[in-house]
Amino acid sequence: MAQHDSASSTPYDLLGVGFGPSNLALAIALREQSERDGRPLRSLFIDRQADYRWHGNTLVTQSELQISFLKDLVTLRNPTSPFSFVNYLHSQGRLVDFINLGTFYPCRLEFNDYLRWVAEHFASQSRYGEAVVRVEPGPQEADGSLRQLDVVACDAAGQERRYRTRSLALSTGGTPRIPQVFRALRQYPQVFHHAQYLERLAALPCAQGQPMRIAVVGGGQSAAEAFIDLNDSYPQVRVDMVLRGAVLKPADDSPFVNEIFAPEYTDLVFNQPPEERERLINEYHNTNYSVVDLDLIERIYGILYRQKVARNQRHGFLCRRSIESAQLVDGKVELRLRDVATAAVENHRYDAVILATGYERTSHRQLLEPLAPLLQDFEVDRSYRLQTDERLQAPIYLQGFCQHSHGLSDTLLSVLPARAGEIAEALHATFESARLRAERAELADV
Ligand SMILES: Cc1cc2nc3c(=O)[nH]c(=O)nc-3n(C[C@H](O)[C@H](O)[C@H](O)COP(=O)(O)OP(=O)(O)OC[C@H]3O[C@@H](n4cnc5c(N)ncnc54)[C@H](O)[C@@H]3O)c2cc1C
Repeated sequence: MAQHDSASSTPYDLLGVGFGPSNLALAIALREQSERDGRPLRSLFIDRQADYRWHGNTLVTQSELQISFLKDLVTLRNPTSPFSFVNYLHSQGRLVDFINLGTFYPCRLEFNDYLRWVAEHFASQSRYGEAVVRVEPGPQEADGSLRQLDVVACDAAGQERRYRTRSLALSTGGTPRIPQVFRALRQYPQVFHHAQYLERLAALPCAQGQPMRIAVVGGGQSAAEAFIDLNDSYPQVRVDMVLRGAVLKPADDSPFVNEIFAPEYTDLVFNQPPEERERLINEYHNTNYSVVDLDLIERIYGILYRQKVARNQRHGFLCRRSIESAQLVDGKVELRLRDVATAAVENHRYDAVILATGYERTSHRQLLEPLAPLLQDFEVDRSYRLQTDERLQAPIYLQGFCQHSHGLSDTLLSVLPARAGEIAEALHATFESARLRAERAELADV
């Protein structure tokens, strides 16, 4: 049976599901707004992780941020905010050293530390170690409308807790994509998604210096990072990169193309008809999907070339391969690969397989399923508010699920400050008009 949150007699004004960068940016924007108008919202952010981590299992030492540090949680909206990356550096006594590095791209470990530092400033508004499992309609008002939602969360011990709220910001990020051919192998510890990289690798024999043969499936940034990490940190490991594409393609981060990640570009995409939005997204797909930073491509090419010079082939680059089947044979994972150009088929056996196969954006649909009869196919308006049946008056905002309507920046860090500001303003306007309505009704009663 679900426990009620101790303070459930007073509903929260906003409940944030997930406390990654999107909702962190929103927490900052809401604090700024309450400082301006003196009306703080009662908000709570729930995250299923035990403490703050930004894609924690992928934080290998060599990984770098793929965006300028100036696109932090707040600077693009408010460069004077105390929550900027520059102020974080200053507070850690590293500002001068960082300047000396001469880079716009800090390592992801450092950006994770920055995000954790910001999250600590919102400790009283956050709750870790609870996974939201569904969002239900709250009590019905006398006029038939629904002005509150019930958010049901579950802790590690399986105990459910219920939170009541007047609005919701759903920002749960991506869900690891497991290709169909690997679904039956998910239970085995030697087959795992890149999202679990550090944790799973630490439990494999290579962590104790034992030799292993590992396949990395995929041709994007995560696959490239895993390859480099296995090469550098595990000298006993032989890696095969297995990818459908013919080559590793570079991410286009040239300056004109980068303009598509500017906050103003969101208006341009949103104002197009659906076919044109789709065309724009496809045209610039190679900025983010199935592409690799050029410096990593050059490193991988260099590693493979030096193998040729030494006539010692440690790693393999199996491009143009589709994976026909995957099965466990004598404790190893056997992959049946087809060369898509020649149709030749070959079998390879591995001690472990890492699936760097990307992420799906579907968790919002599952969590909001109990509200489905009141939703209009998960379409949002310009301020990211879900379009709903008019009975549902509690606003629900989506962050990271609106690429098809708001453009490629929606799943990235690029527009976080602007988006958070827009949602905070929309929320404020909604509550303000509700407050004025209530005041008018009170006066009419007098
Ligand atoms: C390995 C990796 C590297 C990346 N690097 C970059 C980069 O350099 N630059 C860039 O712009 N983008 C990058 N991205 C894209 C990434 O999506 C964004 O950087 C950013 O993390 C988006 O923030 P978010 O808060 O929307 O989602 P997330 O960061 O995914 O955060 C979602 C949060 O919700 C929590 N959560 C999920 N489900 C539930 C639930 N049911 N209940 C409670 N909590 C839940 C999770 O624990 C998590 O903390 C990267 C993505 C990955 C996977």
